[in-house]
Order: sequence, then structure tokens, then C-alpha cells
Amino acid sequence: MSVETQKETLGFQTEVKHLLDLMIHSLYSNKEIFLRELISNASDAIDKLRFEALADDSLYEGDSDLKIKVSVDKDARTITVSDNGIGMTREEVQKHIGTIAKSGTKEFFEKLTGDQAKDSELIGQFGVGFYSAFIVADKVTLITRKAGEKEAVRWESEGKGEYTLESAEKATHGTDVILHLKEGEDEFLDEFRLRSIIKKFSDHISVPIVMDREIPAEKDDEGNETAPARVEEEVVNSASALWTLPKEEISEEEYNEFYKHVGHDFQDPLAYVHSRVEGNVEYTLLLYIPAKAPFDLWDRDAKHGVKLYVKKVFITDDAEKLMPRYLRFVRGVIDTDSLPLNVSREILQQSKQINVIKAGAVKKVLGLLESLVKDEPEKYAQFWEQFGNVMKEGVIEDIKNRERIAKLLRFSSTQSDQPKQDVSLEDYVSRMKEGQDKIYYITADSFAAAKNSPHLEIFRKKGIEVLLLSDKIDEWLVSSLTEFDGKPLQSIAKGELDLDKFESEEEKKQQEEVSKEFESVLKQIKDVLGDKIKDVKVSHRLTDSPACLVTEAHDMSLNMERIMKEAGQNLNMLGIGGTKPILEINPQHEIVTALKEEQDDARFADIVQILFDQAILSEGGQLDDPAAFVHKLNVLLRDLLKK
Ligand code: ADP
Ligand code: MG
Repeated sequence: MSVETQKETLGFQTEVKHLLDLMIHSLYSNKEIFLRELISNASDAIDKLRFEALADDSLYEGDSDLKIKVSVDKDARTITVSDNGIGMTREEVQKHIGTIAKSGTKEFFEKLTGDQAKDSELIGQFGVGFYSAFIVADKVTLITRKAGEKEAVRWESEGKGEYTLESAEKATHGTDVILHLKEGEDEFLDEFRLRSIIKKFSDHISVPIVMDREIPAEKDDEGNETAPARVEEEVVNSASALWTLPKEEISEEEYNEFYKHVGHDFQDPLAYVHSRVEGNVEYTLLLYIPAKAPFDLWDRDAKHGVKLYVKKVFITDDAEKLMPRYLRFVRGVIDTDSLPLNVSREILQQSKQINVIKAGAVKKVLGLLESLVKDEPEKYAQFWEQFGNVMKEGVIEDIKNRERIAKLLRFSSTQSDQPKQDVSLEDYVSRMKEGQDKIYYITADSFAAAKNSPHLEIFRKKGIEVLLLSDKIDEWLVSSLTEFDGKPLQSIAKGELDLDKFESEEEKKQQEEVSKEFESVLKQIKDVLGDKIKDVKVSHRLTDSPACLVTEAHDMSLNMERIMKEAGQNLNMLGIGGTKPILEINPQHEIVTALKEEQDDARFADIVQILFDQAILSEGGQLDDPAAFVHKLNVLLRDLLKK
């Protein structure tokens, strides 16, 4: 006996155990969804076989009447969901059913709080899938044979931490999933109930779902049997691909249920667009925006995206071909008649039609988002909260649609000083002050650091709004989006601020005088700090803080340098970075005026060092030598307390 045929007992990944537990407890009020999930998997498996068979129809093994069958055995108290789709090899079973191979799983579980209400929301983001069988079953048996292979495999588990795998016999290709119902779940043995669940959740799966119906014996008037009792297969669902129907015939609920199938999601979508595009390339699209970001949104290899169908035959769900990366959260279906059915994955790569479809689909999604902005602003706010950071990638990635995407961006700003990002660039522009020709922003590595930055002082004083950018992506965003509506975006921590026009003649004169007064102090400070800085200047930005750091207009921002260093980039090798800041001091501040009078050179140097270091700290930066800073501060404190 080879190892392959022996029965082996394997442990679930810890994560799977945890998931099972959570699911059973959080979904008990919504038990019937197990059937939707199993049917959804069966339908995917059939789609896959149909596609593989385009290139090699021997995979059908003479059985190309593809369907899903749901049957019950009242005596054994089992429900079986069978498909004659692609099936799985032993390795595939082990990989897909028994481990959660999705990356990001660990992070997902770390987010769980133990609070059932909160966690059951999270589980929606994760997707319940196959494991939902254990909501109603205390034992699940799965027997599957991959189309074209000889060996079948039998998987079985009680959902408690272990499962078994062993070789099996199976005549037809595909998968049978047998649920041994828990005590008290007998309602699911009622065929009428099952039919209504299928109608409700899976009506528009394009594959037929059949159930047996008993036809009683027919008798003539004298009571003689003319036809014996028999069992007939009956198609339970409409089996019409939902996207092929006219919009008027589709209910909100049907749209939502279909989303759960294509989106592998557990919750209703936030919005959708359903549209037929005519022209040289013709296609129908039904695209959805999820209500919640999936847990693997940041996973570059996440597989679920938009599915491509050609004449209703599933071809691929390789997201990158149909949606740019920044719209990777979009789910749904695009079906075209303009490609040949036997289109290979290679042809798809260079197909002009695909590019036309992709460009058109992107426009539809942007249009959908624009309509949310206009008609359903609360939904748009929800969208932004979930996917805003991904949309920002669009400004960088999609040059053709940059302006449209720019209008969809939302930011925090000094208008409300709240972390919620709800200010559009158009809002900002409409609030610009008389004579203001730039859109001001500050970047920092946290909202608090941005909001409390000393650079904002002069803007707050003059009542000029500043965008507060604190997402990592923002540095890249502002390097791609240099202007909006003809107005340049300007970092308030870079270069000259050019706020003269908001200043009176008198103020200007005063500034000039102060600069003169401070000339020699500036030189002394520069001598102390040496090559740590590029220059020292009298600041026009500060009102409350004694000092801050700025960079020159074309230098990399200090925040960007930090991000790149964190990402492990060796900036010297890249020939960038190593930006030397300019130290600006506030001539009104008492520390600075006292510094001007300081006679003791050693003390002068210490205070300058402290000013420089605290300017770094207030930017959210890190000191090269924090211990030296603390030491200097303590010396000063000691002197102060001694007096
Ligand atoms: P999802 O469908 O979101 O991938 P599931 O937990 O529902 O997650 O299923 C996990 C995987 O198991 C599927 O992606 C598929 O590879 C495999 N699978 C499940 N059911 C079947 C089936 N009936 N036929 C073939 N493969 C299946
Ligand atoms: Mg599934």
C-alpha cells in the first residue's frame, strides 16, 4: 500500500480551528447560507472545467452535462451537494480545505477582539466559504476526483481540529460534499425548504441546480397502475446568468445575492453598476463595490476580482487583466461576445479588445463612484473610509484618468482638524482665500503629528486651510499630483512660503528689521550645528514654537525620507535622500530672544542643540542620539531647579 492510499489524519491550521469556532457561534442566526457557499464553490468548479475543456474536451470524460445536484437522505440525515466540475487532487484538497492559504490570515486573526458582535462583522470580511458547512453539520465528508485523473480522495472532518484524507473511488469527475446534520437541524432535510433556499440565494447562478422529485404512480379510473412511481430530476433555479437579464427584471435582492457569489463575500455590496456596452467591442458588465474592504486588500496576490466570461463561458478571474491595481477591490463579471471562445490566457495578455474592455470598465467604475458622490454622499464616505488609500494609488497609476480620480480624493484638513477624510480638492479650492493661488498641505507620519505641526502656526493665524496628509501613500500621491484645477499643490514644510500677499507693509518691514537683528545669532547657530543643516533662517511660519525644520522646494521631504528608511531603502545607494534641512527659528519666542543674549558659549551650544532636536521630534522624526538630548535637557533642568 502506498502512502497515498493510506488514511492519514491531519491537523487543521490553528487559524482554521479558530475560524470554525467563530463561525459556528456568530452565524447561527443565518444558518442557511451554508448552502449558498457550497453551491457557489460547485458553480466555480464547473466554470473552471468548462474553461479547461475548451482546450482539451477529453476532460469531460463523456459527461459534459454540467450541473449541481442537491439531495437529501432522511434516514442517514445527510444533505449532499454534488457537482461534476473540475474536482480536486489530493494536494489541492489539502491546500484548499484544511489550511487557509490566504496570506494576511494571521493579521486577520490578530484583529479579532473576542467580542462576538464585532468579530462576526470581521468574519464577513474574511469570507466564510466551505467551512460554513459546519454551521449545520457535525461531520462533513468530501469526495472528489479531478477531471482527467484516476484517483479520487475522501476528506472527512468533524470540524474539531482534525481531518482525515484517504484514497477513494468515484465514477464521475467533480466533488460531492456530504453534510451529516447536527442534532436539531432537521429542517434542512425538508426538500421544500431547500428549494426555497436555493431560489433565494442561488437563483441566478448560471449552472443548473437540480433536485430529485418523486412522481407518484399514475393509475387509470379502475385503479390499475399505468405508469410506475419514478424519480425525476428537476431544475430548481432559473440558471440564467444574472448579468444577461435586462435591469428591470432584476431585483435588488437578486443583485445582492449574486454579488455574494462572485464577490466571495458575506455581506451586501455597497453599490453596483450593470451596463451593456455596444460598439466595436461589445460587452456586458456587472461590477460591484464591496461594503467592507476584504481582509486581503493589501495582498498583492489576492485572487478574487472581476471574472471574464466569453459568451457566458468563464475564462479567467485574473484581476489584473480587467481592472487596474488601484481598483482591485471591484468584484463582478464582464461578459463579451467580441472574443473567440477558445481564447487562451496568452492571447488575453495582448488582446486589444481586452484593453478596450478594461478602459471602458474603469470608466464605468469611476462613473459609479461619481454618482455616489452626487446622490449618496454617505455611501461615498463609507467607500472612502474603506478604500480611500487604494484609490489614491490611482492618481499615481492611471495617468489618463488622473483628473477624474483627483476629484474623488478626500482628505483631512485644518478646516475641521478631524482625522476623518472628507474634504475634496474642489471643496478646498472653493474655500481658498482672496489672492491664494496654491493648495497647501503638510505630510507627516501620523494624523496627530500633522495636525500639531509647528509649520501650521502661521496658516492657522491667517486662517488659510491646509490639507493634513498622514497616510504613507500620501507622499507618493503629492509627487504625482502636482496641481489641481490649475493650482499647484504646495507643501508647507518646503521652500519659501510666499505668504507676503497676506501681510501688511508694516509687517514686512518689521520682518526685515528682525532678520537684520538676528544676523549674527544665525551665524553662531550655524557654527554650532555645522553640517547637520543646510542653513538657519528667521522663520515667518511660527507663532508659538521656537523652531522648525523645512526642506528646500526640490528636496525630498523629511517624512518621505523616514518612510523610505523604514522600508529599508538605502537612500545613499539610490543617490537620493540625505536631505539636509533648514532650521528656522521664531524671533518672537522667548527661548530664541534669550538665546540671542546668552553669553556662555557652552550653554548657547546646548540650547541650539535642543532646539534642533525638538524640531525633529515635533515633526515625528527620530533623533540620532536621543540620550544626548535627554542629557542636555537634564542639565538645563537641574540649573533651573537650583536657582
Ligand atoms: P473561496 O470559494 O472563497 O475560494 P471556499 O472556502 O469556499 O473559499 O473554498 C476554498 C477552495 O476550495 C476554493 O477556492 C476551491 O479551490 C476549493 N473548493 C471548494 N469547493 C470545491 C468544489 N466543489 N470543487 C472544486 N474545488 C472546490
Ligand atoms: Mg467559496
